[in-house]
Amino acid sequence: MGLVQEIDYGTPASTSEKQVTLTVDGFSVTVPEGTSIMRASMEAGIAIPKLCATDMVDAFGSCRLCLVEIDGRNGTPSSCTTPVAPGMVVHTQTGRLKDIRRGVMELYISDHPLDCLTCAANGDCELQTQAGVVGLRDVRYGYEGDNHVFKKNDGAENFKWMAKDESNPYFTYDPSKCIVCSRCVRACEEVQGTFALTIEGRGFDSRVSPGMHQLFIDSECVSCGACVQACPTATLSEKSVIKIGQPEHSVVTTCAYCGVGCSFKAEMRGDELVRMVPYKDGKANRGHSCVKGRFAYGYSTHKERILNPMIREKVTDPWREVSWEEALTHTANEFRRIQYQYGRTSIGGITSSRCTNEETYLVQKLIRQGFRNNNVDTCARVCHSPTGYGLGQTFGTSAGTQDFDSIEKTDVVMIIGANPTDAHPVFASRMKKRLRKGAKLIVLDPRRTDIVRSAHIEAQHHLPLKPGTNVAVVTALAHVIVTEGLFDEAFIRERCDWDEFQDWASFVALPENSPEVVGQLANVDPEEIRGAARLFATGGNGAIYYGLGVTEHSQGSTTVIAIANLAMATGNIGRPGVGVNPLRGQNNVQGSCDMGSFPHELPGYRHVSGDAVRDIYESLWGVKLDDEPGLRIPNMLDAAVDGSFKGLYVQGEDILQSDPDTKHVAAGLAAMECVVVHDLFLNETANYAHVFLPGSTFLEKDGTFTNAERRINRVRKVMAPKNGLADWEVTQKLAQTMGLDWNYQHPSEIMDEIAKTTPSFAKVSFDYLDKMGSVQWPCNEQAPEGTPIMHISGFVRGKGKFIRTEYVATDERTGPRFPLLLTTGRILSQYNVGAQTRRTDNVMWHSEDRLEIHPHDAENRGLRDGDWVRLTSRSGETTLRALITDKVSPGVVYTTFHHPDTQANVITTDFSDWATNCPEYKVTAVQVGASNGPSEWQLDYDEQARNSRRIATLEAAE
Ligand code: SF4
Repeated sequence: MGLVQEIDYGTPASTSEKQVTLTVDGFSVTVPEGTSIMRASMEAGIAIPKLCATDMVDAFGSCRLCLVEIDGRNGTPSSCTTPVAPGMVVHTQTGRLKDIRRGVMELYISDHPLDCLTCAANGDCELQTQAGVVGLRDVRYGYEGDNHVFKKNDGAENFKWMAKDESNPYFTYDPSKCIVCSRCVRACEEVQGTFALTIEGRGFDSRVSPGMHQLFIDSECVSCGACVQACPTATLSEKSVIKIGQPEHSVVTTCAYCGVGCSFKAEMRGDELVRMVPYKDGKANRGHSCVKGRFAYGYSTHKERILNPMIREKVTDPWREVSWEEALTHTANEFRRIQYQYGRTSIGGITSSRCTNEETYLVQKLIRQGFRNNNVDTCARVCHSPTGYGLGQTFGTSAGTQDFDSIEKTDVVMIIGANPTDAHPVFASRMKKRLRKGAKLIVLDPRRTDIVRSAHIEAQHHLPLKPGTNVAVVTALAHVIVTEGLFDEAFIRERCDWDEFQDWASFVALPENSPEVVGQLANVDPEEIRGAARLFATGGNGAIYYGLGVTEHSQGSTTVIAIANLAMATGNIGRPGVGVNPLRGQNNVQGSCDMGSFPHELPGYRHVSGDAVRDIYESLWGVKLDDEPGLRIPNMLDAAVDGSFKGLYVQGEDILQSDPDTKHVAAGLAAMECVVVHDLFLNETANYAHVFLPGSTFLEKDGTFTNAERRINRVRKVMAPKNGLADWEVTQKLAQTMGLDWNYQHPSEIMDEIAKTTPSFAKVSFDYLDKMGSVQWPCNEQAPEGTPIMHISGFVRGKGKFIRTEYVATDERTGPRFPLLLTTGRILSQYNVGAQTRRTDNVMWHSEDRLEIHPHDAENRGLRDGDWVRLTSRSGETTLRALITDKVSPGVVYTTFHHPDTQANVITTDFSDWATNCPEYKVTAVQVGASNGPSEWQLDYDEQARNSRRIATLEAAE
């Protein structure tokens, strides 16, 4: 067994409270009713040999190694599938059992190549280990057996016979080593929920097959790696293990991609990362992962990564590599010069939702204490700022109400404007598992996302609403609930303001909010709206999960409020299985908001105008703080174009690619005198930068991330920063160069300051997190172990507040020139603007953004699948290739935004949410027409990007 491998013990114990006492090999053991004999034996310290059992999947009982004898019963049942019984007397090591196990193992080994010494799994192979455990010395039948040769479908009826499948970039499939234990197949079904693998054939002819004789890369496999993790031999092996060798030590850390916040063991050999193994004790992911977290870490050593600071006088000059000292002195001098020349508020900064809480806290502190203004904003501005506003107004706190475990108790799942299978894949797997067990599903989305209809799942109601009509449709759901008397009066009277409810109820009951009126407006069948509302109100525990399809609208905040109204009206708040759950996009978008990244809020969502709050920081930081909110990102860019905003520090964010109306962003950046980009790569924003400060990856630093369920997870340093400094050290050095008296020795000291000044973090420290694994805020004296479920006995604001949600159509309208509506989203293998994932083998699954268009709309325009098309809006145009699909409704087109040579945001408008300025990415009126290929700016862009990267790489190499 390898040094870092965990031992699995089969079916986990039941949660039943009733206890059963039995005897195993003479030892008395008491376990909950329903526990398997294998698990009970493990409790008594007795390990029964096994091959097909693992705690990843349900017991299967096929390998015939874990047999036991039971007094008074005939035969030798499998211990993994046989439950305990009171007074049962079990024997696990009789002579008969030993003979059977050796015989079974002999057959396995005869069907397996004897290449242990050269095998990648040597030392980490369960077959090898168990052969030793059962005492197998000789094999009478030779070692040829059947090699379970892999068949690849080469056409209609032709099959190629292949020794190995190496098609997946991250793992190999060597069927000759397979013992057909089905662990991989079961992991794909039970853990991931994709059902991509099957066992075909019988006996010695049986083999694992991805799809119908497909290569892994061509099959439905999503490369989550659960099969690789489940495999007890080297049949499915990480290519990195084959290349580097077995890992020797490991560090537990947190994925830096999405807001699920999966925990991983980063397994190392020396100082080289061998593999990322999902951590079974990780409370967000429970041992599962997706292709990004498990495999897509190659960007950290990509050749395009910039490792040395660079400066240039003008953005048209080539970059000049300099020392850290010169770069930071130059930056500090420039910022001070600009403030002297243009005023205190002429500079600002943007924090990163990719960086740690500690790093984000330091950036906002630099701006408030050092720049002496509140010109700080974060990328949450362009994603979940309406969540902060909407939930803050209705519940009193700006975060999701549940933990991920809550889904286990949900009876009706409502997904609004979110595509969890692609954007939050590990949580989606848990959601799908619950749906396969019988929970009902309602989806509000213009697209038929994967979860609407997938393996063994079919949504009861899919409302393919027209982009921009969320408020109307969610209010129509409330209309049905109110007019049909389906609301939870007892809950509302106890927990909410009854007068406000009555006012709201009279509003939603108006005829203009009826499904019949709204259905016409939103292109949705009114009966579907009625059915969905009835199911949600009467189907048991109802939980709402939503994403950027809710927030990135001109009425994003209104929809969040409408969702909160719906949850309160049906009493679906304050217990497991219910709640309002924003699926946060980036790994630390929750944390960056918590840490005071908004221009009007200090850490912990406390308004800058509050004297008592400012007092806390003023006495600690020794400066007078500005009591006026600062500029949001769009306001900074407007002010730059107007000439009053001149300097910007951007940490870990590519606003040129991620923010709306690219031309306006470029104009704003071009008007500034000192743009400082602190990142891993020369991103698109760096085209307008005067200083480039190289960033560090999550593998190279200590800190914490806060995921979508408010869970504060530790990020632990796995290797030294390749650029020399972790990001928190860079910000600290810049602050020191600007004359601030900072002296943090370790990020834990930054967290201590956060805990000291932020009530919801009062009990959090690195030591406490190491002890607890992770905690969900609030974590303080009142909730020392954190708060998995919020608003249990009362809302944070006191009484829950119902607010009217008037539907106001967006100003972005279709018409003869722009008859289609464009909406945008993500794909599983890529992440956001793709800066990391495009620099990994994940490009094999998604090498370009495509435009999804309905067959009718394509036919009307004479377009065929794969054709180049021109996508035009009032803001601009781009070209990309068409993907014809009925996943989108007629009149709606859809694309991802992962590739800078497409730049979907050239198309999007500058309309934004009325409350928070969150851009309206999800509704753009467009026209689509045939094209001969990339437009001129795209060709120019490619050339420019290649040149700037070439210069930087060459200079860095010199
Ligand atoms: Fe990372 Fe999100 Fe995938 Fe988990 S689900 S491994 S956090 S990208």
